[in-house]
Order: sequence, then C-alpha cells, then structure tokens
Amino acid sequence: MVSFEEARSIILSSVSSCGVERIQLLDATGRMLAEDVSAPWDMPLWDNSAMDGYAVRSADCTEIPCKLKVTGFLPAGARAEGVVVEAGCAVRIMTGAPTPAGCDAVVPVEETDDGKQLVTLNEKVVIGQHLRSRGEDVQAGEIFVRAGTLIRPPEVNMLSTFGMALVPVFRRPVVAILSTGDELVELGRTPGPGEIVNSNTLSLAAAVLETGAIPRIIGIARDNLDSHREMLREGLKADVLITSAGVSAGDCDFVRDVLEELGARQLFWKVGIKPGGPTAFAMHGTTPVFSLPGNPVSTMITFEEFVRPALLKMLGHTRVLRPLFKAVLREGLKKKPGKIQIVRIRLDRENGRWLASSAGSQQTAILRTMVEADALAILPADSENFAAGEEVDVHFYGSYIDLI
Ligand code: AMP
Ligand code: MG
Repeated sequence: MVSFEEARSIILSSVSSCGVERIQLLDATGRMLAEDVSAPWDMPLWDNSAMDGYAVRSADCTEIPCKLKVTGFLPAGARAEGVVVEAGCAVRIMTGAPTPAGCDAVVPVEETDDGKQLVTLNEKVVIGQHLRSRGEDVQAGEIFVRAGTLIRPPEVNMLSTFGMALVPVFRRPVVAILSTGDELVELGRTPGPGEIVNSNTLSLAAAVLETGAIPRIIGIARDNLDSHREMLREGLKADVLITSAGVSAGDCDFVRDVLEELGARQLFWKVGIKPGGPTAFAMHGTTPVFSLPGNPVSTMITFEEFVRPALLKMLGHTRVLRPLFKAVLREGLKKKPGKIQIVRIRLDRENGRWLASSAGSQQTAILRTMVEADALAILPADSENFAAGEEVDVHFYGSYIDLI
C-alpha cells in the first residue's frame, strides 16, 4: 500500500503532455499555451493620444486660460505624417490616433470650450500628459505570454492584437473509459433483477470533459478474461486509460491481471485513503492506466484526487492540485487511524471563515452525498477524533468553484 502523497507523486512523475498542436485562436480558449510567444512589433505601434482632445505644445499653454488656433484633425485610423502642431496652434485629436510632430501634451476636450477654429484651454497643461508612447505596453521581440499560460480572454486579446491567428497549445489527451462487470447495463435500458446502469462511464466522461481532455467511451468489459483482454486492448490505444471496478480482490476482479498480461507495468495498487483504497496505477508504454474502484463514490473521488491532476498536467497545466484551505468543523468527526479519510462536506462562509458540515451519510454506497457536497475535507491518516470547532484542510469539488 502507498500513501496518498506517494500515489500522487508516482502518478504525476509518470505523466507528461502528449504533444503540441496549432489551432485557431478562439478554439484555444481554456487551453494551455505550449510555446513562448514574442511580439512581432511594438505595441502601441506609434505614439498616440490617450484622450479625445487637442494635441498642443505645453510651452504655449503656460497662461490659463489660453487660446490656440485649431489647424487640423486626427481621428482614429488617421496618419500623422505631415501633420505638425505649430507654435500657438492645436490639432484636434481622437483617442488612439497618432500624435502629430511638435506636440508634447494632449488636452482632454472636457478641459476646453470644444472650439472648432479657436480653442480655449481652461486647465493647467503638464508636459507629456495624456500621451502614450510607442512600445510602452510591449516592445517588438519581447515575450508577452509564456508557455504554460492558460489562454483566457486577456491572452486572446493580446494574441489577436499581435495577429496570431493560430496558436500552439498542448494537445488534449484522448482518455479511454472502460467499465467492467456483468451487472452493468447501458443507459437507456431499464435494469432487470441484479442489474444496475453503467453510471460510472458517463460520470467519468463528464469529469474528463471538465478537465478539458477528450473522453472515449470503450464500453463494458464482462467478468471473464477474454472480454477484459479485448476491451482493455482497445482502451490501451488511447493516451490515457481509466477503468472502473474489478480492481479489488474479488473472484471476478481481472483488471490488474489482464493489464499485466498486456504489458502494463503496475506502479502501485492500494492507497491509504478512504474511500478509494483499491485504486491501482500502471504505465503501458507512455499510456497511464488508472484502475479505479467501481463503487461510484470511490470512482469519482479517486478521479478527483488522482486522475484529474494527471490530466491537467498532460494538458500543460503546472498548477494541477486544487488549492487547500482551512474550514472549521461545525460538528465533531470520528475516523479510524491509518488512512486519510476524504469527507464529503458542505461549506458556508460566516464572519470571514469557512464552516464545514457533513453533506450527508459518509458511507461509500451513498451516492447522494456526492451530489450534496460542494467540497471535500482531507482528514489526516494518523488522527482519529476531530472536535467541533477544529480546523481541517478542504478543497472545493467541482470546476465551477476552482479558485478561492
Ligand atoms: P466491483 O469493484 O466490481 O466489486 O464493484 C464495486 C461496486 O461498484 C459494485 O457494487 C458494483 O455494482 C458497482 N459498480 C461497478 N461498476 C459500476 C459502474 N460502471 N457504474 C455503477 N456502479 C458500478
Ligand atoms: Mg465487478
């Protein structure tokens, strides 16, 4: 048996990205940039006005109010070549328009009488005011987004500013999902006696989608060696394989044996956590194989704690673990010593603190508590009793509230 931390570090040191692809900028939203990108030109590309107003020579404006002759107009999109602010004159200018020669300040229209032929300035003028200079944001050749950056609207804005129609991002791994068990029927069929719907496959596929990876549903391996061989062989063609059930020590638990027969190298089996103890992890060539326990609560929690960080790493993320923070227990908790216990909780914010209460029965067979939970508390292996008012480590569960 390995500890929770050992399991995570074995997994994270075994997986890496599955290459780079160049895709349309908008499609890259939410993806991780795979290469540093440097600016092909200065931004802004010319000295320009930060306000709608008048381009002036500050030396002409020492006495306020002061009157200047308006000799030109530079709207956005205009070119400033040949336009000069002569002594005693001003050029009407719009925000973003290139500043004309001779000017060393812009006076906002609000500080003038808005004159068309003659303009009166009513406020003091400071040299350099409301001017933006070429390259003040980014200079040509400067790296403005680094590899490993999440592409969000600000990155999309900057990449498009520099004309990057195609961007290099880490490929989305294809994640094969395989359920095992004779009791399973696919969604759409009413389960007969002894049968249950194969809910894990869909829940795993949803969890894979939430990370940004691509789920590929393989189906159900039946509880015999041949079916396991056929389905696992198919699953091993993907970038990642996740199996559910058949990984404990029961009579029909064939997953690990058949994986080994197919050439997978097991790196651990059994982790010191509850739920999720029987989890196994193997590498088949460069394909990581996660064998998760079949109980739906255990499947989802082990995906969350082990598979999700691995997929995020493969997608190019460098911060792959959800942030842990402290929450105060509203009620006492008990556990057995020896294993980390993961408790499904609800969180409320009160007086600047997070308060944790149980989301319902913590039995692993109670699926509903998973739906009610918005966070997981990670109770340390060696402790047994947790009093009301004690602080414990928690993290949110669910991508919609990832960051605090
Ligand atoms: P096993 O590891 O095969 O003993 O399965 C453990 C428990 O999880 C059993 O109660 C199974 O019926 C249940 N289970 C296994 N696979 C699935 C699945 N794909 N969807 C829902 N429940 C499952
Ligand atoms: Mg089974």
